[in-house]
Amino acid sequence: MNAPVKILKPWVKPTLSPHRVGVMNKFGAVRQHNHQADLDGVAIEPLLEQYGSPLFILSEKTLRDNARRLQRAFATRWPKVRHGWSYKTNYLNAVCSILHQEGSWAEVVSDFEYHKARALGVPGSRIIFNGPWKPSAILEQAAHEGAQIHIDHLDEIYALEQVAKSLNKKVAVGIRLNFDTGYTESWSRFGFNLESGAAMDAAQRIASSEWLKLTGLHSHIGTFVLDLRAYAAQARIMAEFMDKVEAETACLIEYLDIGGGFASRNALQGVYLPPDQLVPSFDQYAEAITGSLLEATRTRSAAGKTLPTLILETGRAMVDDAEILVTRVVGGKRLPDGRRAAILDAGVNLLFTAFWYNHQVKPLRPLDGIPEETVLYGPLCMNIDIVRNSVMLPPLNVGDALMVRPAGAYNNTQWMQFIQYRPAVVMVTLEGKVEVVRVAEQLSAINEYERLPESLRLPFPQGLPE
Ligand SMILES: *Cc1c(COP(=O)(O)O)cnc(C)c1O
Repeated sequence: MNAPVKILKPWVKPTLSPHRVGVMNKFGAVRQHNHQADLDGVAIEPLLEQYGSPLFILSEKTLRDNARRLQRAFATRWPKVRHGWSYKTNYLNAVCSILHQEGSWAEVVSDFEYHKARALGVPGSRIIFNGPWKPSAILEQAAHEGAQIHIDHLDEIYALEQVAKSLNKKVAVGIRLNFDTGYTESWSRFGFNLESGAAMDAAQRIASSEWLKLTGLHSHIGTFVLDLRAYAAQARIMAEFMDKVEAETACLIEYLDIGGGFASRNALQGVYLPPDQLVPSFDQYAEAITGSLLEATRTRSAAGKTLPTLILETGRAMVDDAEILVTRVVGGKRLPDGRRAAILDAGVNLLFTAFWYNHQVKPLRPLDGIPEETVLYGPLCMNIDIVRNSVMLPPLNVGDALMVRPAGAYNNTQWMQFIQYRPAVVMVTLEGKVEVVRVAEQLSAINEYERLPESLRLPFPQGLPE
């Protein structure tokens, strides 16, 4: 009887090979990718057919809910609270008007934004005017109309003093401060530095002016600030400076404006915890800020002095999750490194924030197939036009629609017209109706501002060169 044949496999050197992300492996099943077909109950696919793709869709409900949550979070904890809507975050007229209806003032940083707020019917007296450059014509208009002007540098004190003199009117102003909170990178380029004494010097300079009076302090410590301690420190530092400046210059500070910077529920690149775990709620921000402010103003309250109005300029946390971008797949390919790639009709031209965020991407309908690592490219002839560098998605086909969110902050202001028309923006109203709030661009709109010299018009008298 023959002994059983032993089959020995040839010895091979052990190697480590990375798992292809998402492909079924011994570490567990692949995450199911969810889909979403509607926004606030309105089916999206018919909207793409009617208004074209790509398409921005704004939720009136989410925007109003956010405005009310912010208001409630702060007004329950501090007696006088005001919100100034940061126009540069999203200055679609519909967005601004909804927020003005909710009680927000306009926070503008340029003459263009000032004009935009006035054109919407916002009185100058409800405009907060920030920014490092306020041309003299707009400074004059703002001073005349009683806007809340925040001075950025010494030349502006001088310019505003001239304006006030020419209007024969004493103008109330705020100054922008910058300082180290200990928890954020200090944005020392805006406003007057506190530690160096420049801020107190500016306050003294204003106090000595016959034409200006200091009534407010402003600072904006950063953007997408996740650390509550930064805000607690900011509130304390500003309150302490308020006491000091009042004592030294005999001014009366009526408000502390703490700027914006609250994080939205978006995923910053390089940050691994999901936004739901990482991003503080409005209540948490409010608790940190007002807690610190109450502490720092205790002696003030005890002395029977009025507490300053607390002004917020919350931008991205207000609007980001109130708008989505819907885009269609226009092609696909397999990259040399094995990854799947899809080409979309929307790229960084419309989603400027893709440079910093890993936006959530969801198909509108359930897709068949195993999710695998996919790169999402935009339509631009630019290497940097990447919507997502790596996202788990089932195989995509031409025509599939994807929802990219949140997309409400900074995309409708920083979008560019580079080689593409900007698409329509529609709004789902509280009643579930769909309103167009910005029509899709056409060639005529883009050409409207160009002037072609007569001699350059086709057909040329001598015809086109061979
Ligand atoms: C941009 C800006 C804001 C809004 O900032 P977010 O980070 O979007 O909240 C507020 N105030 C000033 C002065 C700004 O420049």
